[in-house]
Amino acid sequence: MHAFSYIDGQLHCENVPLQSLAEQYGTPLYVYSGNTILDHYQRLDLALQGLDHEVAYAVKANSNLSVLRLLAQAGAGFDIVSGGELYRVIKAGGDPAHCTFAGVGKTRDEIIYALQQGIYCFNVESAAELAYLNEVAGELGVVAPAAVRVNPNVDAKTHKYISTGKSENKFGIDFDAIEALYDKAAVDWKNVRMRGLQMHIGSQLTSVQPFVEAVKKVKPLAQTLKDKHGIEFWSIGGGIGIVYHDSLASGQLEWWQQKEEKPLTIEEYGAAVVPLLQDLGLKILLEPGRYIVGNAGVLLTRCLYEKKGSAKTFKIVDAGMNDLIRPALYEGHHEIAPLQETVGELVKADVVGPICESGDFFCQDRAMADFQPGDVIALLSAGAYGFVMASNYNTRPLPAEILVDGEKSTLVRKRQTLDDVLAGEL
Ligand SMILES: *Cc1c(COP(=O)(O)O)cnc(C)c1O
Repeated sequence: MHAFSYIDGQLHCENVPLQSLAEQYGTPLYVYSGNTILDHYQRLDLALQGLDHEVAYAVKANSNLSVLRLLAQAGAGFDIVSGGELYRVIKAGGDPAHCTFAGVGKTRDEIIYALQQGIYCFNVESAAELAYLNEVAGELGVVAPAAVRVNPNVDAKTHKYISTGKSENKFGIDFDAIEALYDKAAVDWKNVRMRGLQMHIGSQLTSVQPFVEAVKKVKPLAQTLKDKHGIEFWSIGGGIGIVYHDSLASGQLEWWQQKEEKPLTIEEYGAAVVPLLQDLGLKILLEPGRYIVGNAGVLLTRCLYEKKGSAKTFKIVDAGMNDLIRPALYEGHHEIAPLQETVGELVKADVVGPICESGDFFCQDRAMADFQPGDVIALLSAGAYGFVMASNYNTRPLPAEILVDGEKSTLVRKRQTLDDVLAGEL
């Protein structure tokens, strides 16, 4: 699944010892394995064999230009959620004709830019947005390709902040209202062309069952829209979950054997959905983000201090919630792996950052290797929704990013300087 492992007691990314990167580039530091990213892309592509399909990587998961370039060269399309992401994709050599544009709040400027660049489709999330798309396309004298995002009202069984396919979520349009909207568009809105149908029920799904439920529920609608309005594609979204509980310690059982949990494998996903979709005759789009990059990245951080209070032990590190917000925002779990493999007794501690917020922790009351001030640790599975959500909170410069390919490591984003942080202020 990923390329982070101990070789002679030293944690490596592919063939590069992470300690050497921490010394050369400083911490906090994001490190990505290029070959893991490509491997995930190719495995997904393979799992969908037998379907006319396209993988549209969800750029928001990790939008570094070098990551996008890698995926563009591998043949991926892109799912974008802003004009800025489209700009990045183009800069990285991606083809706008293979871009789908999602999101509930597209602005006029974003719509115009995407129309000018000739994107594959606007995935529309309200009737008002479809009417507005028609209006703007009319002003430009063009016809906008569009798909409506259907909210199938299925429970993705994931964290409430990343569940998107229930009626109470802001995403998509109620299942029952979709057909009438396509009928209306065909009659009233001459500057949109209904090209497809889209759905995305949530993120970090760890079972195939909600995907199957949503596909089964929406399939008759997709068939109807194809017959009646000639749609050519159905995007079944992203959301494929990854393993976050993954002890790298040698000789231990895999985490799901310990916890009697089983991760969703991509092969299982393909085997479940491909047969359901084969007879439709529609092009099937997928929009994976986390699956492609999540396990392909780590955040390196150095321990600054240890503080033993009356109730707890705190290990204070130089990365904070501004660098990696998932634990604070979604109760996200990241394994902690010291760069030097340790075999001694585990200790129970909180790993916390320097930010002035009680939510600024990476874990609480967790048993871990007893690393010490000066030691560098890796927060695993930080490749998705990591750097992209980083901020300058507490006037902390954004960390650097490194992309590894075999023995080679490349700085793909410089660490911000304080002048970078202040640039633009008066
Ligand atoms: C975020 C998002 C995705 C990607 O979700 P992952 O869980 O990272 O696979 C796909 N489609 C849409 C519309 C999204 O908003």
